[in-house]
Amino acid sequence: MSAATQSKTEAAAARSFAEGVVRPPGSIAVIGGGQLGRMFVQAAQRMGYRAGVLSPTAETPAAQVANWTIVGAPDDLPSLRALADRAEAITVEFENLSAPALRWLARHRIVRPGWRTLWVSQNRHREKSFLAGHGIPIAPWRPVRTDDELDAAVRELGLPLILKTSASGYDGKGQELVETAAEAPSAWRRLNRAKCVAEGWVEFAAEISVVVVRDREGRVAAFPPSLNNHENHILSTTMSPAPVGPVATQEANDAAFAVAQALDAVGVICVEFFLTSSGRLLVNEIAPRPHNSGHLTIEAAHSSQFDQQVRALCGLPLGRCDLVSPGAMANLLGDLWADGEPRWADAMRADPGVMLHLYGKHTPKPGRKMGHLTVIDPDPQAALARVLAARRALTGR
Ligand code: AMP
Repeated sequence: MSAATQSKTEAAAARSFAEGVVRPPGSIAVIGGGQLGRMFVQAAQRMGYRAGVLSPTAETPAAQVANWTIVGAPDDLPSLRALADRAEAITVEFENLSAPALRWLARHRIVRPGWRTLWVSQNRHREKSFLAGHGIPIAPWRPVRTDDELDAAVRELGLPLILKTSASGYDGKGQELVETAAEAPSAWRRLNRAKCVAEGWVEFAAEISVVVVRDREGRVAAFPPSLNNHENHILSTTMSPAPVGPVATQEANDAAFAVAQALDAVGVICVEFFLTSSGRLLVNEIAPRPHNSGHLTIEAAHSSQFDQQVRALCGLPLGRCDLVSPGAMANLLGDLWADGEPRWADAMRADPGVMLHLYGKHTPKPGRKMGHLTVIDPDPQAALARVLAARRALTGR
């Protein structure tokens, strides 16, 4: 970048920082190179922004579509400095980032959601203490940091229970099911005796999630709850709106609003819930960013979760979260490539209403999220049936 361009960017960034607003065609950025970053970049570009990424390589899903890329690690100070040189506002696509690094960035640039939101949501122990402290219902849990705490957890929570590492778990990684007291020590050893939380087993009837967005003035809006189906701990399908009735819908929305307010977050937050067979809602997890269960909002809602992320980041008024149509989404994992390239044309020919999203990942691996399919349909159950049929058509099975 030339010195003249640099000083122009610096002046624009200082103005945005003072005002808390970035208008198109300003330059904004996301830390992280995955599919969430890619869809953020695409939404930002549609609104006329120049969108950059801080990405581990120049070939990641987000870097492939960005206007500019800083190649580097997310906590590397020179990379963050280079990011701040080019972006007026910065957001994230994953929570496992160093909070001090974000705090440092936030001294000079708009950073949303704030570092505190990330700090809370990147650690299960902190997250559960935070939720409990704000009176938000969660599954029974105990911290596990010593053998005594492990014994106490088994005694007090009962069995089965799930041991989850406090830090850096996702898609079921860093989790061990404990069915008998005798198994508990070996389960914890398999987690390298890392700091954990033990969670009581929840006999859930359904898993739902609410994607909520909060702007810098504290206004909130939420997409209707989604019904999520996991396979091997990885999200497989989502249908929205979740057919859980008006009471659970309202309660889930209220709890999601309460979480966003308590976190004082500016941006998109996803709150995942267990809905028990007795109708209780328990928060399972918070993600301080758009979520896989919100991908169908790209086609099914007035403003997608990524549009809302851009609006909140840039200090613009939020868009409408209501759906233009019910819809369903099916993830495309690398497993679908086991016998070669999926038969894209077969799925599209069988149902021209199917919409394909691929993230530009070059190497399919089992469990790796390569893309997703979306169908919108006035009947959400029909949307789900159609998206599942389309996914089956990809492999001819
Ligand atoms: P998590 O990474 O915590 O979202 O867990 C991944 C998946 O494991 C969840 O979506 C549930 O299907 C299952 N799971 C996690 N915790 C529990 C629990 N306490 N009781 C029953 N199932 C659970």
